[in-house]
Amino acid sequence: MGSAPTDRAPGVLRRRQLLTGAATAAAGLAGGSFALNALAPRILPETPGVDPNTSYWARALPAPNAALATSIDADIAIVGAGFTGLSAAFYLRGLLPGRRVVVLEALRCGNGASARNGAMLLPSTGDRYLHAGEDAALDARIDALTLENIGRLKRLAATLGMDAEIDTRGAAHALLTLDEAREAEDTALKLRNRGIPIEYWSREQVRAALGTTAYAGALHDPRAGQLHPGKLVALWKLAAERAGAEIYEGTRVESVEEGRVHVLTTARGDRVRAPVLVLATNAYGSRLGYLRRAAAPVWSYAAITAPLEEADVAALGWRAALPFDDSRTELYYLGLTRDRRLHIGGGKVDYLFNDGTPGSVTAGERHGALKAMLAELYPSLASVAFDAQWAGAVDMSLDASPSVGTLGAHRNIHYAIGYSGHGVNLTSVFGRILADLVGGNRDEWRWLPYLDRLPPYLPNEPFRWLSIRARLAAIRALE
Ligand SMILES: Cc1cc2nc3c(=O)[nH]c(=O)nc-3n(C[C@H](O)[C@H](O)[C@H](O)COP(=O)(O)OP(=O)(O)OC[C@H]3O[C@@H](n4cnc5c(N)ncnc54)[C@H](O)[C@@H]3O)c2cc1C
Repeated sequence: MGSAPTDRAPGVLRRRQLLTGAATAAAGLAGGSFALNALAPRILPETPGVDPNTSYWARALPAPNAALATSIDADIAIVGAGFTGLSAAFYLRGLLPGRRVVVLEALRCGNGASARNGAMLLPSTGDRYLHAGEDAALDARIDALTLENIGRLKRLAATLGMDAEIDTRGAAHALLTLDEAREAEDTALKLRNRGIPIEYWSREQVRAALGTTAYAGALHDPRAGQLHPGKLVALWKLAAERAGAEIYEGTRVESVEEGRVHVLTTARGDRVRAPVLVLATNAYGSRLGYLRRAAAPVWSYAAITAPLEEADVAALGWRAALPFDDSRTELYYLGLTRDRRLHIGGGKVDYLFNDGTPGSVTAGERHGALKAMLAELYPSLASVAFDAQWAGAVDMSLDASPSVGTLGAHRNIHYAIGYSGHGVNLTSVFGRILADLVGGNRDEWRWLPYLDRLPPYLPNEPFRWLSIRARLAAIRALE
Protein backbone atom coordinates (compact mmCIF):
# COMPACT_ATOMS: atom_id res chain seq x y z
CA MET A 1 0.00 0.00 0.00
CA GLY A 2 1.41 3.36 -1.00
CA SER A 3 4.99 4.18 -1.90
CA ALA A 4 7.65 3.26 0.64
CA PRO A 5 9.49 5.94 2.59
CA THR A 6 12.87 6.82 1.16
CA ASP A 7 16.23 7.97 2.42
CA ARG A 8 16.21 11.11 0.27
CA ALA A 9 18.01 14.32 1.11
CA PRO A 10 17.01 15.92 4.40
CA GLY A 11 14.72 18.92 4.30
CA VAL A 12 13.28 18.34 7.64
CA LEU A 13 9.95 19.72 8.80
CA ARG A 14 9.51 22.23 6.05
CA ARG A 15 5.90 22.57 7.01
CA ARG A 16 4.30 25.46 5.10
CA GLN A 17 7.68 27.10 4.38
CA LEU A 18 6.74 27.28 0.73
CA LEU A 19 8.27 30.58 -0.28
CA THR A 20 11.13 30.70 2.21
CA GLY A 21 14.26 30.95 0.14
CA ALA A 22 12.58 32.97 -2.58
CA ALA A 23 13.37 35.97 -0.37
CA THR A 24 16.94 36.36 -1.51
CA ALA A 25 16.06 35.94 -5.16
CA ALA A 26 13.14 38.36 -4.81
CA ALA A 27 15.19 41.05 -3.11
CA GLY A 28 18.04 40.65 -5.58
CA LEU A 29 15.81 40.81 -8.63
CA ALA A 30 13.79 43.78 -7.43
CA GLY A 31 16.83 45.61 -6.10
CA GLY A 32 18.51 45.24 -9.49
CA SER A 33 15.68 47.07 -11.22
CA PHE A 34 14.46 49.39 -8.52
CA ALA A 35 12.60 51.78 -10.83
CA LEU A 36 10.68 49.10 -12.66
CA ASN A 37 9.71 47.45 -9.40
CA ALA A 38 8.38 50.74 -8.04
CA LEU A 39 6.46 51.57 -11.23
CA ALA A 40 5.01 48.10 -11.81
CA PRO A 41 1.74 48.52 -9.86
CA ARG A 42 0.90 51.56 -12.02
CA ILE A 43 1.92 49.98 -15.33
CA LEU A 44 0.35 46.64 -14.46
CA PRO A 45 -2.68 47.22 -12.23
CA GLU A 46 -4.13 44.00 -10.81
CA THR A 47 -7.51 42.75 -12.00
CA PRO A 48 -10.03 43.61 -9.29
CA GLY A 49 -12.67 41.18 -8.08
CA VAL A 50 -12.76 37.83 -6.32
CA ASP A 51 -13.58 34.38 -7.67
CA PRO A 52 -16.64 32.48 -6.38
CA ASN A 53 -16.21 29.62 -3.92
CA THR A 54 -17.12 26.24 -5.46
CA SER A 55 -16.01 24.11 -2.51
CA TYR A 56 -18.00 21.43 -0.75
CA TRP A 57 -17.77 23.43 2.51
CA ALA A 58 -19.58 26.35 0.82
CA ARG A 59 -22.74 24.21 0.66
CA ALA A 60 -23.11 24.79 4.41
CA LEU A 61 -22.73 28.57 4.24
CA PRO A 62 -25.70 30.58 5.48
CA ALA A 63 -27.97 32.40 3.02
CA PRO A 64 -26.27 35.66 2.04
CA ASN A 65 -27.45 39.00 3.40
CA ALA A 66 -28.54 41.80 1.10
CA ALA A 67 -25.94 44.00 -0.53
CA LEU A 68 -25.34 47.54 0.60
CA ALA A 69 -27.75 49.62 -1.50
CA THR A 70 -27.02 53.14 -0.31
CA SER A 71 -24.19 55.26 1.03
CA ILE A 72 -23.67 55.11 4.78
CA ASP A 73 -21.53 56.41 7.64
CA ALA A 74 -20.00 53.89 10.03
CA ASP A 75 -17.53 53.94 12.91
CA ILE A 76 -15.58 50.92 11.71
CA ALA A 77 -15.60 49.41 8.21
CA ILE A 78 -14.27 45.87 7.84
CA VAL A 79 -13.51 44.65 4.32
CA GLY A 80 -13.81 40.87 3.93
CA ALA A 81 -16.07 38.38 5.73
CA GLY A 82 -13.90 35.34 6.35
CA PHE A 83 -12.84 34.19 9.81
CA THR A 84 -10.68 37.31 10.30
CA GLY A 85 -13.31 39.90 9.35
CA LEU A 86 -16.22 38.19 11.10
CA SER A 87 -14.32 37.49 14.32
CA ALA A 88 -12.94 41.06 14.35
CA ALA A 89 -16.53 42.35 14.00
CA PHE A 90 -17.65 40.13 16.89
CA TYR A 91 -14.86 41.27 19.21
CA LEU A 92 -15.17 44.92 18.18
CA ARG A 93 -18.84 45.03 19.08
CA GLY A 94 -18.01 43.40 22.42
CA LEU A 95 -15.27 45.93 23.14
CA LEU A 96 -16.95 49.03 21.71
CA PRO A 97 -20.66 48.25 21.96
CA GLY A 98 -21.88 51.70 20.93
CA ARG A 99 -19.97 51.78 17.62
CA ARG A 100 -21.45 51.05 14.21
CA VAL A 101 -19.41 48.16 12.80
CA VAL A 102 -20.09 47.22 9.16
CA VAL A 103 -18.60 44.28 7.29
CA LEU A 104 -18.43 44.58 3.50
CA GLU A 105 -18.03 41.29 1.65
CA ALA A 106 -17.51 41.10 -2.13
CA LEU A 107 -19.52 37.91 -2.65
CA ARG A 108 -20.66 36.06 0.47
CA CYS A 109 -19.39 35.26 3.96
CA GLY A 110 -16.81 32.49 3.65
CA ASN A 111 -16.19 33.17 -0.03
CA GLY A 112 -12.43 33.09 0.47
CA ALA A 113 -10.04 30.66 2.12
CA SER A 114 -12.26 30.36 5.21
CA ALA A 115 -14.65 27.99 3.43
CA ARG A 116 -12.17 26.40 1.00
CA ASN A 117 -9.51 25.03 3.31
CA GLY A 118 -8.20 21.69 4.55
CA ALA A 119 -10.26 21.89 7.78
CA MET A 120 -7.29 21.25 10.07
CA LEU A 121 -7.62 23.03 13.40
CA LEU A 122 -4.09 23.67 14.61
CA PRO A 123 -2.46 25.55 17.48
CA SER A 124 0.44 27.99 16.98
CA THR A 125 1.41 29.75 13.73
CA GLY A 126 2.65 28.48 10.36
CA ASP A 127 6.27 29.41 11.05
CA ARG A 128 6.39 27.98 14.60
CA TYR A 129 4.19 24.91 14.60
CA LEU A 130 6.11 21.68 15.35
CA HIS A 131 9.39 23.52 15.59
CA ALA A 132 11.52 23.71 18.70
CA GLY A 133 12.67 27.29 18.11
CA GLU A 134 15.37 29.16 19.98
CA ASP A 135 13.00 31.19 22.13
CA ALA A 136 11.22 28.42 24.01
CA ALA A 137 9.30 30.81 26.29
CA LEU A 138 7.93 32.82 23.37
CA ASP A 139 6.98 29.69 21.43
CA ALA A 140 5.17 28.36 24.49
CA ARG A 141 3.31 31.65 24.98
CA ILE A 142 2.12 31.66 21.37
CA ASP A 143 1.18 28.00 21.64
CA ALA A 144 -0.87 28.71 24.78
CA LEU A 145 -2.59 31.75 23.21
CA THR A 146 -3.69 29.77 20.17
CA LEU A 147 -4.63 26.68 22.16
CA GLU A 148 -6.84 28.82 24.36
CA ASN A 149 -8.55 30.03 21.19
CA ILE A 150 -9.60 26.48 20.30
CA GLY A 151 -11.38 26.40 23.66
CA ARG A 152 -13.05 29.72 22.77
CA LEU A 153 -14.30 28.30 19.48
CA LYS A 154 -15.87 25.37 21.30
CA ARG A 155 -17.48 27.62 23.90
CA LEU A 156 -18.84 29.96 21.21
CA ALA A 157 -20.38 27.00 19.37
CA ALA A 158 -21.98 25.80 22.61
CA THR A 159 -23.28 29.27 23.51
CA LEU A 160 -24.84 29.80 20.08
CA GLY A 161 -26.08 26.22 19.85
CA MET A 162 -24.34 25.69 16.51
CA ASP A 163 -22.41 22.57 15.63
CA ALA A 164 -19.30 23.40 13.57
CA GLU A 165 -18.18 19.75 13.83
CA ILE A 166 -15.20 20.77 15.97
CA ASP A 167 -13.31 17.60 16.85
CA THR A 168 -10.05 17.84 18.79
CA ARG A 169 -9.00 14.23 18.91
CA GLY A 170 -5.63 15.13 17.38
CA ALA A 171 -3.94 15.64 14.03
CA ALA A 172 -0.77 14.21 12.52
CA HIS A 173 2.08 15.60 10.46
CA ALA A 174 3.35 12.64 8.40
CA LEU A 175 7.02 12.48 7.43
CA LEU A 176 8.16 11.27 4.08
CA THR A 177 11.79 10.42 4.68
CA LEU A 178 13.83 8.54 7.26
CA ASP A 179 15.94 11.65 7.87
CA GLU A 180 12.85 13.66 8.61
CA ALA A 181 11.59 10.95 10.94
CA ARG A 182 14.89 10.89 12.85
CA GLU A 183 14.87 14.66 13.26
CA ALA A 184 11.20 14.68 14.22
CA GLU A 185 11.83 12.22 17.05
CA ASP A 186 14.32 14.68 18.49
CA THR A 187 11.95 17.63 17.97
CA ALA A 188 9.12 15.83 19.75
CA LEU A 189 11.38 15.20 22.74
CA LYS A 190 12.42 18.86 22.90
CA LEU A 191 8.81 20.04 22.63
CA ARG A 192 7.66 17.64 25.34
CA ASN A 193 10.43 18.93 27.61
CA ARG A 194 8.93 22.37 27.06
CA GLY A 195 5.49 21.13 28.07
CA ILE A 196 4.08 20.86 24.54
CA PRO A 197 2.76 17.29 24.30
CA ILE A 198 3.80 16.38 20.74
CA GLU A 199 4.32 12.65 20.21
CA TYR A 200 6.62 10.99 17.72
CA TRP A 201 5.12 8.06 15.84
CA SER A 202 7.21 5.38 14.15
CA ARG A 203 6.39 4.08 10.71
CA GLU A 204 4.41 1.20 12.28
CA GLN A 205 2.43 3.57 14.48
CA VAL A 206 1.63 5.73 11.45
CA ARG A 207 0.39 2.70 9.55
CA ALA A 208 -1.76 1.64 12.51
CA ALA A 209 -3.25 5.13 12.84
CA LEU A 210 -3.55 6.33 9.23
CA GLY A 211 -3.71 3.02 7.38
CA THR A 212 -0.98 3.87 4.87
CA THR A 213 2.65 2.77 4.57
CA ALA A 214 3.63 5.87 2.61
CA TYR A 215 5.29 7.58 5.56
CA ALA A 216 8.44 7.00 7.57
CA GLY A 217 7.04 8.47 10.78
CA ALA A 218 4.85 11.28 12.05
CA LEU A 219 4.42 13.92 14.69
CA HIS A 220 1.09 13.67 16.46
CA ASP A 221 -0.48 16.64 18.22
CA PRO A 222 -3.24 15.35 20.52
CA ARG A 223 -4.61 18.89 21.01
CA ALA A 224 -5.24 19.65 17.34
CA GLY A 225 -8.13 18.44 15.22
CA GLN A 226 -10.56 19.35 12.49
CA LEU A 227 -13.88 21.03 11.89
CA HIS A 228 -16.35 21.93 9.15
CA PRO A 229 -15.04 25.23 7.72
CA GLY A 230 -18.39 26.30 6.18
CA LYS A 231 -20.11 25.73 9.51
CA LEU A 232 -17.42 27.70 11.34
CA VAL A 233 -18.08 30.62 8.98
CA ALA A 234 -21.80 30.30 9.80
CA LEU A 235 -20.90 30.33 13.49
CA TRP A 236 -18.80 33.49 13.19
CA LYS A 237 -21.45 35.21 11.05
CA LEU A 238 -24.13 34.51 13.66
CA ALA A 239 -21.81 35.60 16.48
CA ALA A 240 -20.97 38.89 14.73
CA GLU A 241 -24.60 39.66 13.94
CA ARG A 242 -25.82 38.76 17.42
CA ALA A 243 -23.14 41.12 18.77
CA GLY A 244 -24.65 43.88 16.61
CA ALA A 245 -22.39 44.07 13.55
CA GLU A 246 -24.01 44.76 10.16
CA ILE A 247 -22.89 42.48 7.33
CA TYR A 248 -23.41 43.40 3.69
CA GLU A 249 -22.71 40.65 1.16
CA GLY A 250 -22.40 41.05 -2.60
CA THR A 251 -20.67 44.34 -1.78
CA ARG A 252 -17.19 44.58 -3.23
CA VAL A 253 -15.06 47.51 -2.16
CA GLU A 254 -13.49 48.89 -5.31
CA SER A 255 -11.40 51.71 -3.90
CA VAL A 256 -10.37 53.36 -0.68
CA GLU A 257 -9.72 57.07 -0.37
CA GLU A 258 -7.68 57.26 2.82
CA GLY A 259 -8.01 60.07 5.35
CA ARG A 260 -8.98 60.81 8.92
CA VAL A 261 -12.30 59.56 7.65
CA HIS A 262 -11.86 57.00 4.88
CA VAL A 263 -14.20 56.86 1.93
CA LEU A 264 -14.74 53.36 0.57
CA THR A 265 -16.46 53.11 -2.80
CA THR A 266 -18.24 49.89 -3.68
CA ALA A 267 -18.46 48.32 -7.14
CA ARG A 268 -22.09 49.57 -7.28
CA GLY A 269 -20.90 53.11 -6.55
CA ASP A 270 -22.14 53.48 -2.95
CA ARG A 271 -19.86 55.09 -0.40
CA VAL A 272 -19.01 54.03 3.12
CA ARG A 273 -17.43 56.75 5.24
CA ALA A 274 -15.60 55.47 8.32
CA PRO A 275 -12.75 56.74 10.52
CA VAL A 276 -11.44 53.19 11.00
CA LEU A 277 -10.75 50.60 8.30
CA VAL A 278 -9.97 46.92 8.97
CA LEU A 279 -8.48 44.98 6.05
CA ALA A 280 -9.54 41.34 6.29
CA THR A 281 -9.10 40.59 2.60
CA ASN A 282 -6.39 37.94 3.06
CA ALA A 283 -4.98 36.78 -0.31
CA TYR A 284 -7.08 39.35 -2.23
CA GLY A 285 -5.72 42.43 -0.44
CA SER A 286 -3.30 43.29 -3.25
CA ARG A 287 -6.21 43.57 -5.69
CA LEU A 288 -7.43 46.47 -3.58
CA GLY A 289 -3.90 47.91 -3.58
CA TYR A 290 -2.97 46.84 -0.03
CA LEU A 291 -0.24 44.66 1.47
CA ARG A 292 1.12 43.47 -1.87
CA ARG A 293 4.60 43.36 -0.37
CA ALA A 294 3.53 41.12 2.52
CA ALA A 295 1.94 38.10 0.85
CA ALA A 296 1.30 36.52 -2.54
CA PRO A 297 -1.80 34.50 -3.46
CA VAL A 298 -0.59 30.95 -3.93
CA TRP A 299 -3.33 28.64 -5.19
CA SER A 300 -3.85 25.28 -3.56
CA TYR A 301 -6.34 22.67 -4.79
CA ALA A 302 -8.70 20.38 -2.91
CA ALA A 303 -11.44 17.82 -3.52
CA ILE A 304 -13.92 15.67 -1.59
CA THR A 305 -15.71 12.39 -2.25
CA ALA A 306 -19.38 11.59 -1.67
CA PRO A 307 -20.03 9.77 1.65
CA LEU A 308 -18.16 6.45 1.63
CA GLU A 309 -19.66 3.18 2.81
CA GLU A 310 -18.87 2.42 6.45
CA ALA A 311 -17.15 -0.81 5.41
CA ASP A 312 -14.97 1.02 2.88
CA VAL A 313 -13.79 3.46 5.53
CA ALA A 314 -13.14 0.64 8.00
CA ALA A 315 -11.06 -1.13 5.32
CA LEU A 316 -8.74 1.90 5.07
CA GLY A 317 -7.52 1.32 8.61
CA TRP A 318 -7.58 5.08 9.18
CA ARG A 319 -8.21 5.01 12.90
CA ALA A 320 -10.31 7.73 14.52
CA ALA A 321 -10.44 9.63 11.22
CA LEU A 322 -7.35 11.55 12.30
CA PRO A 323 -6.66 14.44 9.89
CA PHE A 324 -3.09 14.70 8.64
CA ASP A 325 -0.80 16.60 6.37
CA ASP A 326 2.65 15.65 5.20
CA SER A 327 6.20 16.96 5.07
CA ARG A 328 6.40 17.84 1.38
CA THR A 329 7.00 21.55 0.85
CA GLU A 330 3.99 21.40 -1.47
CA LEU A 331 2.23 19.39 1.18
CA TYR A 332 -0.82 17.14 0.93
CA TYR A 333 -3.55 17.22 3.58
CA LEU A 334 -6.35 14.74 4.16
CA GLY A 335 -9.36 14.40 6.40
CA LEU A 336 -12.58 12.45 6.87
CA THR A 337 -15.82 14.27 7.60
CA ARG A 338 -18.37 13.14 10.12
CA ASP A 339 -20.52 11.73 7.29
CA ARG A 340 -17.53 9.75 5.94
CA ARG A 341 -16.54 11.96 3.02
CA LEU A 342 -12.82 11.89 2.40
CA HIS A 343 -11.23 15.19 1.45
CA ILE A 344 -7.74 15.68 0.07
CA GLY A 345 -5.90 18.85 -0.85
CA GLY A 346 -2.48 20.19 -1.64
CA GLY A 347 0.20 18.99 -4.01
CA LYS A 348 1.49 21.34 -6.68
CA VAL A 349 0.46 24.95 -6.07
CA ASP A 350 0.30 27.79 -8.58
CA TYR A 351 1.23 31.41 -8.55
CA LEU A 352 -0.34 33.30 -11.47
CA PHE A 353 1.25 36.42 -12.94
CA ASN A 354 0.18 39.65 -11.20
CA ASP A 355 -1.73 37.85 -8.43
CA GLY A 356 -4.15 36.25 -10.89
CA THR A 357 -6.61 33.36 -10.52
CA PRO A 358 -5.97 29.95 -12.18
CA GLY A 359 -8.16 28.77 -15.04
CA SER A 360 -10.02 25.47 -15.35
CA VAL A 361 -7.26 23.68 -17.33
CA THR A 362 -4.67 24.13 -14.58
CA ALA A 363 -7.22 23.26 -11.91
CA GLY A 364 -8.25 20.13 -13.84
CA GLU A 365 -4.66 18.93 -13.92
CA ARG A 366 -4.16 19.56 -10.22
CA HIS A 367 -7.39 17.77 -9.27
CA GLY A 368 -6.26 14.81 -11.40
CA ALA A 369 -3.04 14.74 -9.38
CA LEU A 370 -5.05 14.69 -6.13
CA LYS A 371 -6.93 11.64 -7.39
CA ALA A 372 -3.62 9.92 -8.18
CA MET A 373 -2.25 10.73 -4.70
CA LEU A 374 -5.41 9.40 -3.06
CA ALA A 375 -4.98 6.13 -4.96
CA GLU A 376 -1.33 5.99 -3.90
CA LEU A 377 -2.14 6.48 -0.22
CA TYR A 378 -5.30 4.34 -0.21
CA PRO A 379 -5.33 2.00 -3.23
CA SER A 380 -8.81 0.70 -2.37
CA LEU A 381 -10.12 4.18 -3.26
CA ALA A 382 -8.46 4.28 -6.69
CA SER A 383 -11.76 4.42 -8.54
CA VAL A 384 -13.70 6.68 -6.16
CA ALA A 385 -15.07 9.86 -7.75
CA PHE A 386 -14.91 13.37 -6.34
CA ASP A 387 -18.20 15.04 -5.47
CA ALA A 388 -16.68 18.53 -5.43
CA GLN A 389 -13.32 20.04 -6.30
CA TRP A 390 -12.07 23.55 -5.86
CA ALA A 391 -9.12 25.93 -5.63
CA GLY A 392 -8.30 28.42 -2.90
CA ALA A 393 -5.75 31.21 -2.56
CA VAL A 394 -3.35 31.05 0.37
CA ASP A 395 -1.88 34.40 1.52
CA MET A 396 1.66 33.09 1.54
CA SER A 397 4.35 35.27 3.11
CA LEU A 398 8.03 34.78 2.36
CA ASP A 399 8.80 33.50 5.86
CA ALA A 400 5.45 31.70 6.42
CA SER A 401 4.74 34.02 9.32
CA PRO A 402 1.62 36.14 9.85
CA SER A 403 1.34 39.84 10.62
CA VAL A 404 -1.20 42.00 12.39
CA GLY A 405 -0.91 45.73 12.81
CA THR A 406 -1.71 49.25 11.83
CA LEU A 407 -0.98 51.31 8.72
CA GLY A 408 -1.70 54.69 7.20
CA ALA A 409 -0.81 58.34 7.70
CA HIS A 410 -3.48 58.56 10.40
CA ARG A 411 -2.76 55.12 11.90
CA ASN A 412 -6.37 54.14 11.33
CA ILE A 413 -6.02 51.19 8.95
CA HIS A 414 -5.62 47.84 10.65
CA TYR A 415 -4.68 44.61 8.92
CA ALA A 416 -3.99 40.92 9.40
CA ILE A 417 -2.23 38.93 6.71
CA GLY A 418 0.24 36.14 5.95
CA TYR A 419 -1.35 33.18 7.73
CA SER A 420 0.38 31.07 5.06
CA GLY A 421 -2.06 28.18 5.15
CA HIS A 422 -2.29 28.06 8.95
CA GLY A 423 -5.28 30.27 9.71
CA VAL A 424 -8.37 28.25 10.62
CA ASN A 425 -7.66 28.87 14.31
CA LEU A 426 -5.19 31.77 14.16
CA THR A 427 -7.56 34.08 12.26
CA SER A 428 -9.87 34.53 15.23
CA VAL A 429 -6.92 35.13 17.56
CA PHE A 430 -5.98 37.92 15.16
CA GLY A 431 -9.63 39.06 14.97
CA ARG A 432 -9.43 39.65 18.72
CA ILE A 433 -6.10 41.46 18.39
CA LEU A 434 -7.52 43.68 15.61
CA ALA A 435 -10.35 44.67 17.95
CA ASP A 436 -7.79 45.52 20.63
CA LEU A 437 -5.76 47.63 18.19
CA VAL A 438 -8.87 49.62 17.26
CA GLY A 439 -9.99 49.81 20.89
CA GLY A 440 -6.66 51.16 22.18
CA ASN A 441 -5.37 47.98 23.82
CA ARG A 442 -2.22 47.74 21.71
CA ASP A 443 0.02 47.44 24.77
CA GLU A 444 -1.47 44.09 25.64
CA TRP A 445 0.05 42.64 22.46
CA ARG A 446 3.49 44.27 22.40
CA TRP A 447 5.08 40.93 23.29
CA LEU A 448 3.77 39.31 20.10
CA PRO A 449 6.48 39.20 17.40
CA TYR A 450 3.85 39.49 14.66
CA LEU A 451 2.55 42.87 15.85
CA ASP A 452 3.19 45.82 13.55
CA ARG A 453 5.66 43.96 11.40
CA LEU A 454 5.49 42.91 7.82
CA PRO A 455 7.19 39.78 6.50
CA PRO A 456 10.24 40.00 4.20
CA TYR A 457 9.59 42.10 1.12
CA LEU A 458 7.87 40.51 -1.87
CA PRO A 459 8.56 42.53 -5.02
CA ASN A 460 6.16 43.62 -7.74
CA GLU A 461 5.92 42.08 -11.20
CA PRO A 462 7.72 40.76 -13.10
CA PHE A 463 10.14 40.03 -10.21
CA ARG A 464 7.35 38.58 -8.11
CA TRP A 465 6.43 35.97 -10.70
CA LEU A 466 10.07 35.20 -11.52
CA SER A 467 11.15 34.67 -7.92
CA ILE A 468 8.15 32.56 -6.94
CA ARG A 469 8.40 30.47 -10.10
CA ALA A 470 12.12 29.97 -9.45
CA ARG A 471 11.40 28.86 -5.91
CA LEU A 472 8.70 26.42 -7.02
CA ALA A 473 10.99 25.02 -9.73
CA ALA A 474 13.76 24.52 -7.15
CA ILE A 475 11.40 22.73 -4.75
CA ARG A 476 10.17 20.42 -7.52
CA ALA A 477 13.69 19.63 -8.66
CA LEU A 478 14.70 18.74 -5.09
CA GLU A 479 11.61 16.71 -4.22
C1 LIG B 1 -6.84 25.41 0.02
C2 LIG B 1 -6.55 25.93 1.41
C3 LIG B 1 -6.32 25.02 2.44
C4 LIG B 1 -6.08 25.49 3.73
N1 LIG B 1 -5.99 24.59 4.76
C5 LIG B 1 -5.86 25.03 6.03
C6 LIG B 1 -5.90 24.12 7.12
O1 LIG B 1 -6.13 22.92 6.95
N2 LIG B 1 -5.69 24.61 8.37
C7 LIG B 1 -5.45 25.93 8.61
O2 LIG B 1 -5.24 26.33 9.76
N3 LIG B 1 -5.48 26.84 7.59
C8 LIG B 1 -5.71 26.42 6.32
N4 LIG B 1 -5.78 27.32 5.30
C9 LIG B 1 -5.68 28.77 5.62
C10 LIG B 1 -6.98 29.36 6.18
O3 LIG B 1 -8.08 28.86 5.46
C11 LIG B 1 -6.90 30.89 6.02
O4 LIG B 1 -5.74 31.34 6.69
C12 LIG B 1 -8.09 31.62 6.61
O5 LIG B 1 -9.30 31.08 6.17
C13 LIG B 1 -8.02 33.10 6.22
O6 LIG B 1 -9.21 33.72 6.63
P1 LIG B 1 -9.44 35.25 6.31
O7 LIG B 1 -10.73 35.63 6.91
O8 LIG B 1 -8.25 36.02 6.69
O9 LIG B 1 -9.50 35.31 4.72
P2 LIG B 1 -10.62 34.82 3.70
O10 LIG B 1 -11.42 33.71 4.24
O11 LIG B 1 -9.92 34.59 2.40
O12 LIG B 1 -11.57 36.06 3.58
C14 LIG B 1 -11.29 37.20 2.81
C15 LIG B 1 -12.61 37.70 2.29
O13 LIG B 1 -12.42 38.99 1.73
C16 LIG B 1 -13.31 39.13 0.65
N5 LIG B 1 -12.81 40.23 -0.16
C17 LIG B 1 -11.64 40.31 -0.82
N6 LIG B 1 -11.51 41.49 -1.45
C18 LIG B 1 -12.63 42.19 -1.17
C19 LIG B 1 -13.08 43.48 -1.53
N7 LIG B 1 -12.36 44.28 -2.34
N8 LIG B 1 -14.28 43.90 -1.07
C20 LIG B 1 -15.02 43.11 -0.24
N9 LIG B 1 -14.64 41.87 0.10
C21 LIG B 1 -13.45 41.41 -0.34
C22 LIG B 1 -13.24 37.75 -0.02
O14 LIG B 1 -14.37 37.51 -0.86
C23 LIG B 1 -13.19 36.83 1.17
O15 LIG B 1 -14.46 36.36 1.57
C24 LIG B 1 -6.02 26.89 3.99
C25 LIG B 1 -6.23 27.80 2.95
C26 LIG B 1 -6.51 27.33 1.67
C27 LIG B 1 -6.78 28.31 0.57
